[in-house]
Amino acid sequence: MKIPLCDLQVPAQAKAYVNDALDTNWIGGAGEYLTKLGVELCYVTGRPFAIPCANGTLALEVALMALGVGPGDEVIVPALTFVSPAAAVCRVGATPVFADVHPETWTLDPLQLDGLITIKTRAIIAVDLLGHVADYALLYKAAKGVPIIEDAAEAHGAAGRYLQAGAWGDIATFSFHANKTIPAGEGGAVLCDNPLLAGKLKRIVNHGMTAERPYHHEMVGTNARMTNLTAALLLAQVERWDELVEARQNVASAYDALLAGRISRRSVAKWATEACWLYTVYHPERDRLVKALRDAGIDARAIWPALPDNPAYQRYNLDGYPVARRVAAEAFWLPTWAGMPQETIEEVATALLEALAEVEGVKA
Ligand SMILES: *Cc1c(COP(=O)(O)O)cnc(C)c1O
Repeated sequence: MKIPLCDLQVPAQAKAYVNDALDTNWIGGAGEYLTKLGVELCYVTGRPFAIPCANGTLALEVALMALGVGPGDEVIVPALTFVSPAAAVCRVGATPVFADVHPETWTLDPLQLDGLITIKTRAIIAVDLLGHVADYALLYKAAKGVPIIEDAAEAHGAAGRYLQAGAWGDIATFSFHANKTIPAGEGGAVLCDNPLLAGKLKRIVNHGMTAERPYHHEMVGTNARMTNLTAALLLAQVERWDELVEARQNVASAYDALLAGRISRRSVAKWATEACWLYTVYHPERDRLVKALRDAGIDARAIWPALPDNPAYQRYNLDGYPVARRVAAEAFWLPTWAGMPQETIEEVATALLEALAEVEGVKA
Protein backbone atom coordinates (compact mmCIF):
# COMPACT_ATOMS: atom_id res chain seq x y z
CA MET A 1 0.00 0.00 0.00
CA LYS A 2 1.24 3.44 -0.94
CA ILE A 3 -0.39 5.02 2.13
CA PRO A 4 -0.42 2.75 5.21
CA LEU A 5 -3.15 2.74 7.87
CA CYS A 6 -0.62 3.78 10.50
CA ASP A 7 2.95 4.89 10.66
CA LEU A 8 5.15 6.03 13.51
CA GLN A 9 8.46 7.59 14.36
CA VAL A 10 10.51 6.48 17.33
CA PRO A 11 11.72 9.69 18.98
CA ALA A 12 15.41 10.28 19.74
CA GLN A 13 14.67 10.27 23.47
CA ALA A 14 13.35 6.70 23.22
CA LYS A 15 16.59 5.58 21.60
CA ALA A 16 18.56 7.26 24.38
CA TYR A 17 16.51 5.57 27.11
CA VAL A 18 16.64 2.14 25.44
CA ASN A 19 20.40 2.41 25.02
CA ASP A 20 20.70 3.41 28.66
CA ALA A 21 18.65 0.37 29.69
CA LEU A 22 20.86 -1.82 27.51
CA ASP A 23 24.00 -0.33 29.03
CA THR A 24 22.79 -1.26 32.51
CA ASN A 25 21.97 -4.83 31.38
CA TRP A 26 18.50 -4.50 32.93
CA ILE A 27 16.66 -5.96 29.97
CA GLY A 28 14.06 -8.15 31.70
CA GLY A 29 10.84 -7.65 33.61
CA ALA A 30 12.29 -5.45 36.34
CA GLY A 31 14.23 -2.20 36.35
CA GLU A 32 14.30 1.51 36.78
CA TYR A 33 12.37 2.36 33.60
CA LEU A 34 9.46 0.20 34.70
CA THR A 35 9.31 2.10 37.99
CA LYS A 36 9.53 5.47 36.24
CA LEU A 37 6.90 4.44 33.71
CA GLY A 38 4.45 3.45 36.45
CA VAL A 39 4.85 6.87 38.06
CA GLU A 40 4.42 8.68 34.74
CA LEU A 41 1.26 6.72 33.91
CA CYS A 42 -0.21 7.75 37.27
CA TYR A 43 0.65 11.32 36.46
CA VAL A 44 -1.06 11.39 33.04
CA THR A 45 -4.22 9.60 34.17
CA GLY A 46 -4.55 11.02 37.67
CA ARG A 47 -4.68 7.54 39.20
CA PRO A 48 -2.67 6.44 42.24
CA PHE A 49 -1.67 3.00 40.86
CA ALA A 50 -0.46 1.99 37.41
CA ILE A 51 1.22 -1.33 36.67
CA PRO A 52 2.93 -1.80 33.30
CA CYS A 53 2.33 -5.16 31.63
CA ALA A 54 3.09 -7.01 28.41
CA ASN A 55 0.13 -5.89 26.28
CA GLY A 56 -3.44 -4.65 26.38
CA THR A 57 -5.01 -8.07 26.04
CA LEU A 58 -3.10 -9.56 28.98
CA ALA A 59 -3.95 -6.40 30.93
CA LEU A 60 -7.63 -7.34 30.59
CA GLU A 61 -6.94 -10.95 31.57
CA VAL A 62 -5.01 -9.80 34.65
CA ALA A 63 -7.86 -7.42 35.58
CA LEU A 64 -10.40 -10.27 35.34
CA MET A 65 -8.15 -12.56 37.42
CA ALA A 66 -7.82 -9.87 40.09
CA LEU A 67 -11.60 -9.65 40.32
CA GLY A 68 -11.75 -13.43 40.75
CA VAL A 69 -13.59 -14.03 37.48
CA GLY A 70 -13.49 -17.66 36.36
CA PRO A 71 -15.52 -20.63 35.10
CA GLY A 72 -19.27 -20.28 35.59
CA ASP A 73 -19.08 -16.49 35.68
CA GLU A 74 -20.48 -14.11 33.10
CA VAL A 75 -18.88 -10.87 31.97
CA ILE A 76 -20.76 -8.27 29.95
CA VAL A 77 -18.80 -7.13 26.90
CA PRO A 78 -19.80 -4.65 24.17
CA ALA A 79 -20.86 -6.29 20.89
CA LEU A 80 -18.66 -3.86 18.97
CA THR A 81 -14.95 -3.66 19.80
CA PHE A 82 -11.61 -5.14 18.86
CA VAL A 83 -11.68 -8.73 20.04
CA SER A 84 -9.54 -8.50 23.21
CA PRO A 85 -12.28 -8.05 25.85
CA ALA A 86 -14.17 -11.15 24.65
CA ALA A 87 -10.97 -13.17 24.27
CA ALA A 88 -9.78 -12.25 27.77
CA VAL A 89 -13.11 -13.33 29.28
CA CYS A 90 -12.88 -16.71 27.51
CA ARG A 91 -9.22 -17.13 28.50
CA VAL A 92 -10.10 -16.96 32.20
CA GLY A 93 -12.81 -19.57 31.61
CA ALA A 94 -15.80 -17.23 31.92
CA THR A 95 -18.56 -16.51 29.40
CA PRO A 96 -18.83 -13.25 27.49
CA VAL A 97 -22.36 -11.83 27.35
CA PHE A 98 -22.62 -9.32 24.53
CA ALA A 99 -24.44 -6.03 24.96
CA ASP A 100 -25.34 -3.62 22.18
CA VAL A 101 -23.66 -0.24 21.93
CA HIS A 102 -25.19 3.23 22.11
CA PRO A 103 -26.34 4.63 18.74
CA GLU A 104 -24.54 7.93 19.24
CA THR A 105 -21.25 7.10 20.94
CA TRP A 106 -20.92 3.41 19.88
CA THR A 107 -19.80 2.61 23.44
CA LEU A 108 -21.49 0.10 25.79
CA ASP A 109 -25.14 1.18 26.14
CA PRO A 110 -26.07 1.53 29.82
CA LEU A 111 -29.72 0.79 28.97
CA GLN A 112 -28.74 -2.74 27.93
CA LEU A 113 -27.34 -3.73 31.32
CA ASP A 114 -30.63 -4.14 33.11
CA GLY A 115 -31.71 -7.09 30.97
CA LEU A 116 -28.29 -8.75 30.98
CA ILE A 117 -27.07 -8.64 34.57
CA THR A 118 -27.74 -11.93 36.31
CA ILE A 119 -26.62 -13.57 39.53
CA LYS A 120 -23.63 -14.89 37.53
CA THR A 121 -22.43 -11.48 36.32
CA ARG A 122 -19.03 -10.87 37.89
CA ALA A 123 -17.76 -7.93 35.84
CA ILE A 124 -18.55 -5.55 33.01
CA ILE A 125 -15.95 -4.53 30.45
CA ALA A 126 -16.68 -1.13 28.91
CA VAL A 127 -14.52 -0.03 25.98
CA ASP A 128 -13.67 3.64 25.35
CA LEU A 129 -14.26 2.97 21.68
CA LEU A 130 -12.28 4.88 19.07
CA GLY A 131 -11.39 7.72 21.41
CA HIS A 132 -14.79 8.15 23.09
CA VAL A 133 -15.12 7.45 26.81
CA ALA A 134 -18.10 5.23 27.72
CA ASP A 135 -20.93 6.75 29.79
CA TYR A 136 -19.61 5.67 33.20
CA ALA A 137 -22.02 7.85 35.17
CA LEU A 138 -24.93 5.80 33.82
CA LEU A 139 -22.99 2.54 33.60
CA TYR A 140 -22.13 2.56 37.31
CA LYS A 141 -25.76 3.27 38.15
CA ALA A 142 -26.97 0.41 35.95
CA ALA A 143 -24.20 -1.96 37.11
CA LYS A 144 -25.67 -2.21 40.63
CA GLY A 145 -22.30 -2.82 42.23
CA VAL A 146 -20.85 -5.15 39.58
CA PRO A 147 -17.27 -3.94 38.99
CA ILE A 148 -16.48 -2.21 35.73
CA ILE A 149 -13.24 -2.74 33.82
CA GLU A 150 -12.47 0.15 31.51
CA ASP A 151 -10.61 -0.81 28.34
CA ALA A 152 -8.98 2.48 27.34
CA ALA A 153 -6.73 0.96 24.64
CA GLU A 154 -8.14 3.28 21.97
CA ALA A 155 -8.67 6.39 24.05
CA HIS A 156 -5.38 7.89 25.26
CA GLY A 157 -6.11 11.56 25.80
CA ALA A 158 -9.90 11.29 25.66
CA ALA A 159 -12.00 12.47 28.60
CA GLY A 160 -15.52 12.15 29.89
CA ARG A 161 -16.94 14.77 32.22
CA TYR A 162 -14.08 15.55 34.62
CA LEU A 163 -11.97 12.39 34.23
CA GLN A 164 -9.43 11.18 31.70
CA ALA A 165 -9.87 7.90 29.85
CA GLY A 166 -8.24 5.31 32.07
CA ALA A 167 -9.48 7.00 35.25
CA TRP A 168 -13.06 5.67 35.20
CA GLY A 169 -12.97 1.92 35.61
CA ASP A 170 -12.67 0.10 38.94
CA ILE A 171 -9.74 -1.24 36.95
CA ALA A 172 -8.66 0.40 33.70
CA THR A 173 -6.39 -1.03 31.03
CA PHE A 174 -4.32 0.50 28.27
CA SER A 175 -2.57 -0.88 25.22
CA PHE A 176 0.61 0.63 23.81
CA HIS A 177 0.65 -1.49 20.66
CA ALA A 178 2.51 0.00 17.68
CA ASN A 179 -0.66 1.37 16.06
CA LYS A 180 -2.12 2.91 19.20
CA THR A 181 -1.91 6.59 20.07
CA ILE A 182 0.99 6.09 22.52
CA PRO A 183 3.00 3.42 20.72
CA ALA A 184 5.71 1.19 22.19
CA GLY A 185 5.54 -1.76 19.80
CA GLU A 186 3.87 -4.00 22.36
CA GLY A 187 2.81 -2.98 25.84
CA GLY A 188 -0.04 -2.47 28.26
CA ALA A 189 -0.94 -1.30 31.74
CA VAL A 190 -3.52 -1.87 34.47
CA LEU A 191 -4.61 1.03 36.67
CA CYS A 192 -6.76 1.40 39.77
CA ASP A 193 -7.31 3.47 42.91
CA ASN A 194 -7.51 0.74 45.54
CA PRO A 195 -4.16 -0.20 47.13
CA LEU A 196 -5.21 -3.80 47.91
CA LEU A 197 -6.39 -4.31 44.37
CA ALA A 198 -3.18 -2.73 43.05
CA GLY A 199 -1.11 -5.19 45.11
CA LYS A 200 -3.12 -8.06 43.70
CA LEU A 201 -2.73 -6.85 40.11
CA LYS A 202 0.99 -6.46 40.60
CA ARG A 203 1.33 -9.98 41.97
CA ILE A 204 -0.75 -11.54 39.18
CA VAL A 205 1.46 -9.86 36.56
CA ASN A 206 4.50 -11.44 38.25
CA HIS A 207 3.59 -15.13 38.79
CA GLY A 208 1.52 -14.41 41.90
CA MET A 209 4.72 -13.58 43.85
CA THR A 210 5.82 -10.59 45.86
CA ALA A 211 9.37 -9.26 45.99
CA GLU A 212 9.37 -9.97 49.74
CA ARG A 213 8.50 -13.65 49.36
CA PRO A 214 9.74 -15.07 46.07
CA TYR A 215 8.51 -18.59 45.21
CA HIS A 216 5.70 -18.30 47.72
CA HIS A 217 2.36 -18.39 45.92
CA GLU A 218 -0.86 -17.51 47.68
CA MET A 219 -2.58 -16.94 44.40
CA VAL A 220 -2.40 -18.10 40.80
CA GLY A 221 -0.62 -15.57 38.64
CA THR A 222 0.90 -15.46 35.22
CA ASN A 223 3.82 -13.79 33.52
CA ALA A 224 2.42 -10.60 32.05
CA ARG A 225 5.47 -8.43 32.71
CA MET A 226 6.68 -5.68 30.43
CA THR A 227 10.43 -5.61 29.87
CA ASN A 228 12.57 -2.73 31.07
CA LEU A 229 13.54 -2.19 27.42
CA THR A 230 9.94 -1.63 26.38
CA ALA A 231 9.41 0.54 29.45
CA ALA A 232 12.37 2.70 28.38
CA LEU A 233 10.89 3.18 24.91
CA LEU A 234 7.40 3.74 26.31
CA LEU A 235 8.56 6.22 28.95
CA ALA A 236 9.80 8.49 26.16
CA GLN A 237 6.41 8.21 24.43
CA VAL A 238 4.42 8.83 27.62
CA GLU A 239 6.55 11.92 28.28
CA ARG A 240 5.12 13.37 25.06
CA TRP A 241 1.57 12.12 25.70
CA ASP A 242 -0.13 15.48 25.01
CA GLU A 243 1.94 16.05 21.89
CA LEU A 244 1.02 12.62 20.47
CA VAL A 245 -2.68 13.09 21.29
CA GLU A 246 -2.70 16.56 19.74
CA ALA A 247 -0.89 15.38 16.61
CA ARG A 248 -3.71 12.93 15.87
CA GLN A 249 -6.30 15.57 16.68
CA ASN A 250 -4.68 17.77 14.03
CA VAL A 251 -5.03 14.98 11.47
CA ALA A 252 -8.71 14.65 12.41
CA SER A 253 -9.26 18.40 12.02
CA ALA A 254 -7.57 18.33 8.60
CA TYR A 255 -9.82 15.46 7.47
CA ASP A 256 -12.85 17.27 8.91
CA ALA A 257 -12.06 20.39 6.89
CA LEU A 258 -11.71 18.40 3.67
CA LEU A 259 -14.67 16.06 4.14
CA ALA A 260 -17.21 18.20 6.03
CA GLY A 261 -20.75 17.66 4.77
CA ARG A 262 -19.71 14.78 2.49
CA ILE A 263 -19.52 11.89 4.95
CA SER A 264 -20.68 11.20 8.52
CA ARG A 265 -18.65 10.75 11.67
CA ARG A 266 -19.70 9.15 14.95
CA SER A 267 -21.31 11.77 17.18
CA VAL A 268 -19.67 12.91 20.41
CA ALA A 269 -21.68 13.12 23.64
CA LYS A 270 -22.05 16.59 25.20
CA TRP A 271 -20.10 15.47 28.26
CA ALA A 272 -17.21 13.92 26.35
CA THR A 273 -13.98 15.16 24.82
CA GLU A 274 -13.12 12.88 21.94
CA ALA A 275 -9.57 11.87 21.06
CA CYS A 276 -8.74 10.66 17.57
CA TRP A 277 -7.17 7.22 17.37
CA LEU A 278 -8.14 6.23 13.83
CA TYR A 279 -10.22 8.68 11.82
CA THR A 280 -13.54 6.88 11.48
CA VAL A 281 -16.41 7.62 9.10
CA TYR A 282 -19.50 5.69 8.01
CA HIS A 283 -21.55 5.29 4.86
CA PRO A 284 -24.12 2.72 3.61
CA GLU A 285 -21.88 1.97 0.60
CA ARG A 286 -18.89 1.32 2.86
CA ASP A 287 -17.57 -1.74 1.06
CA ARG A 288 -17.42 0.00 -2.31
CA LEU A 289 -15.71 3.05 -0.80
CA VAL A 290 -13.10 0.96 1.01
CA LYS A 291 -12.44 -1.03 -2.16
CA ALA A 292 -11.97 2.14 -4.22
CA LEU A 293 -9.49 3.51 -1.66
CA ARG A 294 -7.61 0.23 -1.43
CA ASP A 295 -7.44 -0.01 -5.23
CA ALA A 296 -5.84 3.44 -5.10
CA GLY A 297 -3.13 2.11 -2.75
CA ILE A 298 -4.65 3.61 0.40
CA ASP A 299 -4.90 1.25 3.37
CA ALA A 300 -8.44 2.22 4.42
CA ARG A 301 -10.12 -0.55 6.39
CA ALA A 302 -13.60 -1.65 7.34
CA ILE A 303 -14.23 -1.63 11.09
CA TRP A 304 -14.40 -4.98 12.95
CA PRO A 305 -17.44 -7.21 12.44
CA ALA A 306 -19.77 -7.24 15.45
CA LEU A 307 -18.26 -9.74 17.92
CA PRO A 308 -21.31 -12.06 17.94
CA ASP A 309 -20.85 -12.47 14.19
CA ASN A 310 -17.36 -13.96 14.50
CA PRO A 311 -17.20 -17.77 14.29
CA ALA A 312 -15.31 -17.90 17.61
CA TYR A 313 -17.94 -15.81 19.42
CA GLN A 314 -21.02 -16.70 17.40
CA ARG A 315 -24.35 -15.96 19.02
CA TYR A 316 -27.31 -17.13 16.97
CA ASN A 317 -29.33 -14.08 17.72
CA LEU A 318 -30.12 -12.70 14.31
CA ASP A 319 -32.13 -9.72 15.54
CA GLY A 320 -29.76 -8.77 18.33
CA TYR A 321 -27.19 -6.02 18.55
CA PRO A 322 -28.78 -3.82 15.85
CA VAL A 323 -26.52 -0.84 16.53
CA ALA A 324 -23.28 -2.83 16.66
CA ARG A 325 -24.25 -4.63 13.46
CA ARG A 326 -25.17 -1.43 11.63
CA VAL A 327 -21.90 0.29 12.63
CA ALA A 328 -19.98 -2.88 11.71
CA ALA A 329 -21.58 -2.75 8.26
CA GLU A 330 -21.00 0.95 7.59
CA ALA A 331 -17.98 2.29 9.44
CA PHE A 332 -14.42 2.41 8.15
CA TRP A 333 -11.06 3.90 8.97
CA LEU A 334 -8.89 6.27 7.03
CA PRO A 335 -5.11 6.25 7.49
CA THR A 336 -4.21 8.16 10.65
CA TRP A 337 -0.94 8.72 12.43
CA ALA A 338 0.80 11.42 14.45
CA GLY A 339 2.58 13.75 12.05
CA MET A 340 0.76 12.47 8.94
CA PRO A 341 1.67 15.02 6.26
CA GLN A 342 -1.03 17.39 4.98
CA GLU A 343 -0.42 16.26 1.35
CA THR A 344 -1.07 12.65 2.35
CA ILE A 345 -4.26 13.62 4.18
CA GLU A 346 -5.35 15.53 1.07
CA GLU A 347 -4.56 12.58 -1.17
CA VAL A 348 -6.74 10.29 0.96
CA ALA A 349 -9.56 12.83 1.17
CA THR A 350 -9.50 13.44 -2.58
CA ALA A 351 -9.64 9.71 -3.29
CA LEU A 352 -12.55 9.36 -0.89
CA LEU A 353 -14.45 12.31 -2.42
CA GLU A 354 -13.99 10.79 -5.88
CA ALA A 355 -15.21 7.40 -4.67
CA LEU A 356 -18.21 9.05 -2.99
CA ALA A 357 -19.13 10.88 -6.20
CA GLU A 358 -19.00 7.64 -8.10
CA VAL A 359 -20.98 5.62 -5.57
CA GLU A 360 -23.61 8.30 -5.15
CA GLY A 361 -23.77 9.06 -8.87
CA VAL A 362 -24.51 5.41 -9.66
CA LYS A 363 -27.18 5.28 -6.98
CA ALA A 364 -28.98 8.44 -8.17
C1 LIG B 1 -5.74 -2.73 20.68
C2 LIG B 1 -6.78 -3.10 21.63
C3 LIG B 1 -6.55 -4.02 22.67
C4 LIG B 1 -5.35 -4.93 22.70
O1 LIG B 1 -4.17 -4.46 22.86
P1 LIG B 1 -2.85 -5.34 22.60
O2 LIG B 1 -1.86 -4.51 23.31
O3 LIG B 1 -2.66 -5.37 21.11
O4 LIG B 1 -3.06 -6.68 23.19
C5 LIG B 1 -7.51 -4.23 23.62
N1 LIG B 1 -8.70 -3.62 23.54
C6 LIG B 1 -9.00 -2.76 22.55
C7 LIG B 1 -10.34 -2.11 22.56
C8 LIG B 1 -8.05 -2.48 21.56
O5 LIG B 1 -8.37 -1.65 20.56
